[in-house]
Amino acid sequence: MILILKPGTPENEVAILRSKFESSGIIIQEIQGENTRMIGFAGDTSRITEDEVLVHPCVEKIMRVSEPYKLVNKKFHPTASIFDIMGRKIGGGNFAVIAGPCSVESEEQILSIAEDVKQAGANFLRGGAFKPRTSPYAFKGLELDGLALLEQARKQTGLPIVTEIMSSDYLEIFAEKVDIIQVGARNMQNFTLLRQIGELKKPVLLKRGLSSTIEELLMSAEYIMSGGTTQVILCERGIRTFETATRNTLDLSAIPVLHEKSHLPVVIDPSHASGYASLVAPLSLAAAACGADGLIIEVHNNPKLALCDGAQSIEPDLFADLMKKIDRVREAVK
Ligand code: PEP
Ligand code: MN
Repeated sequence: MILILKPGTPENEVAILRSKFESSGIIIQEIQGENTRMIGFAGDTSRITEDEVLVHPCVEKIMRVSEPYKLVNKKFHPTASIFDIMGRKIGGGNFAVIAGPCSVESEEQILSIAEDVKQAGANFLRGGAFKPRTSPYAFKGLELDGLALLEQARKQTGLPIVTEIMSSDYLEIFAEKVDIIQVGARNMQNFTLLRQIGELKKPVLLKRGLSSTIEELLMSAEYIMSGGTTQVILCERGIRTFETATRNTLDLSAIPVLHEKSHLPVVIDPSHASGYASLVAPLSLAAAACGADGLIIEVHNNPKLALCDGAQSIEPDLFADLMKKIDRVREAVK
């Protein structure tokens, strides 16, 4: 971190600033330019907030030369992380597909879709038991009954289950029953929940917030990892822009950018990114071509009757066809 000081700063102000940061272990070096006096901070500056520095009236400007995150940072872990989750690998060239309905609706529905996505080659089963709905009157999931149905589907197919946690009330239950804990876009900055999830030391799928920057996503992953978890999968699921033709705008550039900055695997959610079933296949193929480590796709056996997100859910036949195309695209760009 480099601090540019205001011209004519009194020495006693600089001394106050120096002693405050030196006492917390920062090594300070003065840099004198022709007209500008600067101070360089070396050491672990990830804990220093800009506010703590700017509160000193002698500081004109701050420039960060290192990122505020460490555990997720590629600089400290130069090779891509590969996670082995119940025998399914993701990251570092291992591609994984998570598929299933938006919400678990019934035994017949989840068991039938689980079987179909497994046959098509999916690696994990998704399904919401606790749903974050914009309207308080919309279907909010089968909750604990939904979790039990997911467990039944796992038993029948062997597919590990991925499902969203909404409240810290269910931490223990999720720790016991769920294989990958999903943090939804709306909870990406629920820092207390992130920290508590991290303490469970279980694999986590962290979705990017609707209006969050890539750095904010990485800081949220850092929260989870600082709790103790080592396995965090980052998920780009579309961000809010001025465009209304799609539900959100898929930020494909997040894939290479995240890979440059972090060692964690990156998956793409073309379903929530687009909002339309017809766009799911082209966006999935683009993500595969762009280097994603996986996809999370909503699949429903009867989208017209789905209780949530039917318009963006693809049918099992299309999913099976898409899985073959993904393999071909990955082969082509290898
Ligand atoms: C979901 O995956 O079901 C979901 C609600 O996604 P998001 O949090 O990305 O909106
Ligand atoms: Mn959904």
